[in-house]
Amino acid sequence: MSSILNGKKLAVIGDPIEHSLSPLIQQAMLDELGLYCTYGRILVPAGTVAAWLPGTPGMNLAGFNATMPHKADLVPLMDTLSDDARMYRSVNTVVIRDGHFHGHNTDGAGFLRSLLDEDILPEGKKIAVYGAGGAARSVVLKLAAAEAKSIAVCCRTPAKAEELARSSARVHVVALGSPDFERTLAEADLFINCTPLGMQGVPAQFADFRFLDALPASAPVCDLIYRPLKTELLKEAEKRGHQTMNGLGMLIHQAILALELFAAMPLDAALMKKAVEKRLIPVLHQKV
Ligand code: NAP
Repeated sequence: MSSILNGKKLAVIGDPIEHSLSPLIQQAMLDELGLYCTYGRILVPAGTVAAWLPGTPGMNLAGFNATMPHKADLVPLMDTLSDDARMYRSVNTVVIRDGHFHGHNTDGAGFLRSLLDEDILPEGKKIAVYGAGGAARSVVLKLAAAEAKSIAVCCRTPAKAEELARSSARVHVVALGSPDFERTLAEADLFINCTPLGMQGVPAQFADFRFLDALPASAPVCDLIYRPLKTELLKEAEKRGHQTMNGLGMLIHQAILALELFAAMPLDAALMKKAVEKRLIPVLHQKV
């Protein structure tokens, strides 16, 4: 296939970077498309991305993805920013064209696409989001832009979410364990876990799952976690009859959207998802 990516390189930067799944995901798509382009990992130590960036055009890079801890540091370094990157104040995809850096963020749009794949439509819905970190920020702001009726950011440190709540009239903060939290769950049409609770390798887990009893059985329960593919939260939600969704769709869709930006062309998302799942799912079943 002819493409501006042929003969170029792509990469993911981060610190640490050795466990990133981006090379596996992106290479599966590049191979499926028959593109002559390799996708690697680059360790860029925390705090050094501003010094590293000017050298990238000389590295034959067509662009790169960014993970912890560079997503916020990249924002002021870009020549242009997409609306989403500006809204989240976070860049996960940088397209390099003619020595200029174009910053994007595909996390929120990737999450939205993963919901749509499961026929979960946020428009007009009351949504309870658990957690208020970086992933919650992109999910919450994208859901607000997608015209969710209201989004309650349920978190243990409400002060940290106040600024997020000020960014949209649809967003408000609810303290975990408060009477408001119970009320929020009872009225919710959708519940989304945006904390690392239940993630493989993270010792912390939900103290118990009784809070799920307050949630209407018709409300789908989503977890951004994809390792394990079925967290305890999702198992408990299934027991109670909820539709469930893990974070795999978000992980894959944010990558497809990034490749569309690198290649400057639309991709067949269903075909790309299938190619990625074939390589990724066996790896996700391995213990790390
Ligand atoms: P983060 O920025 O560190 O935020 C984590 C959030 O979880 C914070 O609000 C934190 O609260 C809260 N939290 C942590 N432990 C808690 C506990 N015991 N009780 C209540 N709240 C707790 O992390 P992140 O980048 O947002 O990532 C969150 C999760 O999303 C991770 O599991 C990550 O793997 C997943 N994720 C998935 C995708 C995907 O593509 N599927 C993409 C991004 C992230 P405090 O601020 O009070 O500490």
